[in-house]
Amino acid sequence: MNYEFSDEENRFRESVAEFCKRYIEPRWVEIDEKGHIPLDLIKKLGDQGLFAIPVPEKYGGMGGNMTLAAIAVEEIAYHDPAVAVAVYTLLQNGWPLALSIFGSEAAKQEVLPKVASGDAFFGIASTEPQGGSDVAGIKTVAKRSGSKWIINGEKTYISGVREISELPEGGGYFLVAKTENTQWGHKNITDFVLLPKWHGKMSEKVKPTIYDEIGRHGISTGGFKIEDFEVDDDFKIGEVNNGFYYVMEGFNIARVLVAAATIGSARWALDRGAEWIRERKLFQGKPISSFQGVNFKFAELYAELEAAKYFVYKAAWMMDNTYLTSTPKFKPRDLDVPVALAKMKGPETATKIYEEVLKWFGAYGYTKESNVYRGWLGTFSYTIGAEGSQNIMRYIIAREIIGKEFVSHTG
Ligand SMILES: Cc1cc2nc3c(=O)[nH]c(=O)nc-3n(C[C@H](O)[C@H](O)[C@H](O)COP(=O)(O)OP(=O)(O)OC[C@H]3O[C@@H](n4cnc5c(N)ncnc54)[C@H](O)[C@@H]3O)c2cc1C
Repeated sequence: MNYEFSDEENRFRESVAEFCKRYIEPRWVEIDEKGHIPLDLIKKLGDQGLFAIPVPEKYGGMGGNMTLAAIAVEEIAYHDPAVAVAVYTLLQNGWPLALSIFGSEAAKQEVLPKVASGDAFFGIASTEPQGGSDVAGIKTVAKRSGSKWIINGEKTYISGVREISELPEGGGYFLVAKTENTQWGHKNITDFVLLPKWHGKMSEKVKPTIYDEIGRHGISTGGFKIEDFEVDDDFKIGEVNNGFYYVMEGFNIARVLVAAATIGSARWALDRGAEWIRERKLFQGKPISSFQGVNFKFAELYAELEAAKYFVYKAAWMMDNTYLTSTPKFKPRDLDVPVALAKMKGPETATKIYEEVLKWFGAYGYTKESNVYRGWLGTFSYTIGAEGSQNIMRYIIAREIIGKEFVSHTG
């Protein structure tokens, strides 16, 4: 086994860190405070090649891999611990890769170069009002009409809704819909590229709303109603009625990067915590780090963060050896457990680290001046469930390890 990053990976990490120190670190608090990632920063991220890292160069990507994408997202989250910029970046790597694997040539050529350059957004629209965990229970429906599909339905808690309306080109989603009927089940699901705004023009057939969230304010979360939106057959993703499997693979890709974002933010918090406990002196000038009640906890949290990192980079490496090689070592299903481990461990470790670091900061931690709370609230979005809830990760691990016939998720 090789536990080292290559020289190329280390150099890439250094170059991303340099970029972040210059363009993100000075602005992350303002981004969280104002609830907005400036469009010039999105463009800079695109120009720097930080979107579509694992996407082939012929579609405007870097032709890199998921390990590099995870490094980029981890570093960005270290410099924007409230994670909005990291989430934006992870979505612009994960879902473009999923489209490059499953989409038609026409859709890839049309959408991916604009996402890579930062002119358009491409995310995921799966969740609906009746519950995000139950993808087989979605009700949005696509009906075929000649060479087109007519889509009707509603999506909720979707990242990037406002950004699509603001970006010069626009953008859209990897949309999950029922084909022909809305009966519960996974064999009547098809995925589409839905572009509510494209070439700078917003469609009136998609009606958005924006939610007011408690954290990661820089990137919007919203919903939208879809009324008779027409999609060309070319923008159907993969085969009809196979969409459940493609979106599950897409979730696996995105979840690795979600976990990378949470460990980057958690590393920032633990570094700030270490500085604080060395400097804060009590009981006749002793640093609070000298008390075992503090340093033992530090050691435990450090161990958890190292474990979470291991899960992230093992899953990314497996993914590279599944999708991004001419000689795959693994099948997509082999990724389910390693990815669920990373997505389960990353956000929960971040939450634990933030809660302890806030306590080390004492009353100062409870003020807005310390800024630590921004990372706590930002990473907590992934403990709640963005890109799949934590219980669903537990279900996947239990199902695969104990055995499908012994583990039910429906009662
Ligand atoms: C900040 C944010 C951004 C998001 N962005 C997107 C996005 O871009 N695109 C998108 O499609 N969705 C997005 N989501 C939605 C996200 O995917 C859902 O929140 C998630 O899938 C859970 O769905 P839900 O919120 O409807 O909760 P529910 O599915 O209603 O679940 C409620 C609770 O029940 C638990 N639960 C559900 N089923 C089981 C089971 N079988 N066993 C045990 N426990 C179970 C869950 O773990 C959860 O705790 C976002 C969510 C957030 C918070």
